[in-house]
Amino acid sequence: MLDWNKINTVLLDMDGTLLDLNFDNHFWLEFIPECYALKNQLTITQATDILLPLFKSMEGKLEWYCLDYWSGILNLDIAGLKAEISGLINVLPHVTEFLNALKVTDKKVFLVTNAHRNSLSIKMEKPCLQPFFDEIICSHDYAFAKEHQEFWQAFQNQHGWNKQTTLMVDDSLAVLQSAKTFGAGSRYFCESLFWASQPKQAAKT
Ligand SMILES: [Mg+2]
Repeated sequence: MLDWNKINTVLLDMDGTLLDLNFDNHFWLEFIPECYALKNQLTITQATDILLPLFKSMEGKLEWYCLDYWSGILNLDIAGLKAEISGLINVLPHVTEFLNALKVTDKKVFLVTNAHRNSLSIKMEKPCLQPFFDEIICSHDYAFAKEHQEFWQAFQNQHGWNKQTTLMVDDSLAVLQSAKTFGAGSRYFCESLFWASQPKQAAKT
């Protein structure tokens, strides 16, 4: 079990960790192909055949998370379309209780996300998550996604959190591996990563 007495900083991912991924899956895999098909007079199948390889080619890169990038490539108002269906954004079970419990401790809580700032503001709005965080960190501000060592180095340099006493929770294996590489040798950081690979189970405790 995680010893919370030894944790003084908590780094929480947003999509898939605090928020249900159904929104993003629906948005990128169904809603955007529909919009793209309509705009370009294609069938949805034709649009999907064009879009999926495009999405795949950018996975793990900062552009993958950049609404401006996709607006330019697809000639669609991606931020506007996200706002249009923002009613589908949902917090995962037990997340609010978990954040409330953290809030009454003296632990510093960071939201650390690859999401674009425009996407972030849409996603923070409806579930009212912003007050739970001491700081919100967007990897775009450092010009590297969380999958890259450069992000972790720049983030730690700026905020000075201690690997020995920091818990990180994320649903992406690639991000967890990147953070683990950065924190290699740190007992608690690695333990936290193990815990973080089971966020739903941990959130219930
Ligand atoms: Mg995530």
